[in-house]
Amino acid sequence: MSRRLQLRFLTSADDITKLPDSSAEVALVGRSNVGKSSLVNALSGRKAMAHVSKTPGRTRLLNCFEVDGGDATLVDCPGYGYAQAPAQMRGSWRKLMETYLQQREQLAMILVLVDGEIGPTKLDVQMLDWLRSIPLPHSVIATKFDKVKAMQRAARQKELAATCDLQVDDVVWVSAAKGTGIDELERRVRLWLA
Ligand code: GDP
Repeated sequence: MSRRLQLRFLTSADDITKLPDSSAEVALVGRSNVGKSSLVNALSGRKAMAHVSKTPGRTRLLNCFEVDGGDATLVDCPGYGYAQAPAQMRGSWRKLMETYLQQREQLAMILVLVDGEIGPTKLDVQMLDWLRSIPLPHSVIATKFDKVKAMQRAARQKELAATCDLQVDDVVWVSAAKGTGIDELERRVRLWLA
């Protein structure tokens, strides 16, 4: 097992001018419930690392974590796709995200989390299309690998990659619950932030 990422919560920002100084950033995006907090916890080896991103008032903000005691940052972005969210809130999410993803020069990689159990949603595909239209550097991470039955895994991996318009090997599958793929993702995060 590789050494887990040492994450330290820095700040929550509602505007990109309030982000901390950073040498390089990896951002996590995905619809709510995709397993983003669980993944942050798994990457850090600490069960409650991401609880801060879920506290009231912070769920709509960019939650920033220092990585390995250095100058690089992991940014946990607000989840999208709250069915009950009023249009005004969706508008402010969109404004914050578009500004952040397009204007943040330190952004080295955007990790788009897709639920491995249910597959990419329409919103996930829209996000990928948008990132490609700019274009911005991104990777697809499929979550909850343990929830896919062993017999269905090969087919599901093929199907999920195809819906994302990717090759099977382009998608990193992880399970925060079982630890699958976490070493590999950590290795990549360190490379992107180097
Ligand atoms: P977030 O809203 O994207 O931060 O999602 P959470 O991390 O809170 O996860 C949403 C739900 O999915 C929770 O009930 C988690 O326990 C569950 N979950 C997340 N990751 C995994 C996983 O790898 N395996 C399983 N079985 N459940 C998971």
